Amino acid sequence: MSEALRPPLRIALIGNPNTGKTSLFNTLTGLRQRVGNYSGVTVEKKTGIWQMPQSGQEVELIDLPGTYSLSANSLDERVAVDVMTGHGLAGRAPDLVVVVVDVENLRRNLFLASQASELGVPMVIALNCWDVAEKKGLQIDSKLLAQRLGVPVVPTVAKRKSGTIDLGKAVEQALHTKPLMARPQWPKAVQTALKSLRDALVETHGESLRDGELQRLLFDRNSAVRDRLQSPSATHDPIIRAAREQLYKDGFQPDAAESTLRYRFLNPLLNDVLERQALMKKRSTSESIDQLLLHKFWGLLVFVGMMYVVFQSVYSWAGPAMDLIEGVVGWLQGIAAGALVGTPMLQSLVVDGIIGGVGAFLVFLPQILVLFFFIALLEATGYMARAAFLMDKCFQWCGLNGKSFVPLLTSFACAIPGIMATRTINDNKARLITILVAPLMSCSARLPVYLLLIGAFIEPVYGPSVAGTALFAMHFVGALVAAPLAWLLHRSIDKGRAPMPFVMELPRYRVPQLKLVLLRMYESGKEFVVRAGTVIFAMTIVIWALLYFPRPESIAADTRTQFISQITEGRLSSQEGKASLDESQQAELDAQIAARYLEQSYMGRFGKMVQPIFAPAGYDWKITVGVLASFPAREIIISTLGIIYALGDEVDENSSDLRTTLSNAKWDAGPRQGEPVFNIPVALSIMIFFALCMQCGATLAVIAKELNGWWSAGSFCALTLLAWVAAVAVYQIGMLF
Ligand code: GDP
Ligand code: MG
Repeated sequence: MSEALRPPLRIALIGNPNTGKTSLFNTLTGLRQRVGNYSGVTVEKKTGIWQMPQSGQEVELIDLPGTYSLSANSLDERVAVDVMTGHGLAGRAPDLVVVVVDVENLRRNLFLASQASELGVPMVIALNCWDVAEKKGLQIDSKLLAQRLGVPVVPTVAKRKSGTIDLGKAVEQALHTKPLMARPQWPKAVQTALKSLRDALVETHGESLRDGELQRLLFDRNSAVRDRLQSPSATHDPIIRAAREQLYKDGFQPDAAESTLRYRFLNPLLNDVLERQALMKKRSTSESIDQLLLHKFWGLLVFVGMMYVVFQSVYSWAGPAMDLIEGVVGWLQGIAAGALVGTPMLQSLVVDGIIGGVGAFLVFLPQILVLFFFIALLEATGYMARAAFLMDKCFQWCGLNGKSFVPLLTSFACAIPGIMATRTINDNKARLITILVAPLMSCSARLPVYLLLIGAFIEPVYGPSVAGTALFAMHFVGALVAAPLAWLLHRSIDKGRAPMPFVMELPRYRVPQLKLVLLRMYESGKEFVVRAGTVIFAMTIVIWALLYFPRPESIAADTRTQFISQITEGRLSSQEGKASLDESQQAELDAQIAARYLEQSYMGRFGKMVQPIFAPAGYDWKITVGVLASFPAREIIISTLGIIYALGDEVDENSSDLRTTLSNAKWDAGPRQGEPVFNIPVALSIMIFFALCMQCGATLAVIAKELNGWWSAGSFCALTLLAWVAAVAVYQIGMLF
């Protein structure tokens, strides 16, 4: 085969969670995958191109989810096993594997390396977090270790890019020499069991498996290898069971044999390799911090307090930047209005539709950035893993476990990555429940809705500190509803099952890298702006059109006639239409015309038709339109209200500020004509509706993918109904006061 046609060499990165695989991957490929100081951040494999330092040859590098062992349980760990055995990559095992090892947990990390060695893939070991070893006085003789293991061992500091050239060189060489890591010499009984397993599989099914795969079948109660072999026509279970029984008769407990035997093999290899100097102080600081942060009572208090400060800062820090954006939006509207004065329709599209709609949304960028700054900061320090640990205790009663925490926390940014992150949960039932309640976590798309309503109705009355508290509280509403809901699901699905225990390693505390925190903030900000430029922009035009058309000339003329006969009380009937209006009368007339057009627009008619459903929650037809328009994506309500009030602005022509406009809005018909539409109960009712309703097409699609379409449709109906009931209840109760 010619050089050009040969497929690129493949190299996989495997290792325990949180050892720096993704950091290394990013450094080597120049890509930016998300790095986090807790497990569960990488749940799928990612590939990139790595250029070898000496030959310049390009190889394909694969970043895998972290796993402690190849006896994988959860979906994300299985990805790692499948790739290593060649079944995740169209039948081709990687040409080489780089095992990323955390120097601080050498022994346990090498367990995985030793399991992987049985698959016969050439190996290089990266001793990552070398800086931590130096700081803690941990001395590791990497040369001796390399000698004993029979594979290159290269110290690296992935986050500072040091050691990566050496790693590249070692890999380049290893691609030629194909070094395999030393394997344990199994006792006779294990060898016999493996051999009989192999023979039986070849005989009955014609399958010839590698040693490593046979070991998975023998040692693991459940394995990715077994599930892969499984087909409706052929079950391998009797063969596997026979081999395991044989092993048991020979004096080895199959579930425990592997770790005992492997550690017995690894321990002597590590003699003299590892030396710890008497520099234990650093470690105890981290431990004493944990005594506080993991405390049943104080830990929770600190957690809640910390979240409180975060949400307070969202209101108090972002103000000036928001004012600035509002100023720019107003200024742009002024310019566009002037430039397009000759073409009223285009003027309305650009000024009221596009700039008004997208601008109303973009105003919230500073607050989003502040929130993500804090979240990134907490993640990077290693605190989030502590929070997961704390939450485990709070979660158990409702069928969730500590591993549900990271997915749920992620859902506070967006339910989509949150639902994907449930792949780390090895307990299927806990995973199902976590997926179903994840959409209730307050995602960042709800944030603009809360910011708008709290900013318009709570902040002016009660001040910024109550506003911050309200925002904080809104973020817990979903979680408060999620808990009993999870309990109900827990009670009704698959009752008698014992939950799996929760095991999570606490990463050491790390000083956050400012660069990573800012990068995370930048990425979430970019996502927000891109949404403004794409989804929101497109929806803005559609919604503007539905609110602008139809537009018969006669409405303007009729309204004008009526208006003039009203102010002249019929006296000037002969000269109607020619009467000259003063400036304020003209403005009022324009507003009346705008309101008429809006009401009879397609969207206006539709809103009025549906409004009775939302009347018990206190919504007028305009809010109803906003709520309906935001079913594909929650944020759309902001631009929709922006356009509605820009088009039919009866109150305050000069105000481009949506918050002021909302607080001035009045009922235009019905028994409450003239009363303000928005009051605190209405604002709360809208917020509750948005907190609970499943208004997100993308989330529904992900649920359908991770579970199935029925669960997706079911959760849509259930949450929408729940949201409506809660919104009505909040409004009705609120109106009693
Ligand atoms: P993964 O779970 O193995 O993909 O690990 P990540 O790449 O997400 O990194 C986990 C954490 O370790 C992050 O906070 C990184 O900044 C940090 N980290 C990665 N490499 C190093 C290193 O060489 N030294 C130190 N001190 N920290 C590192
Ligand atoms: Mg990772």
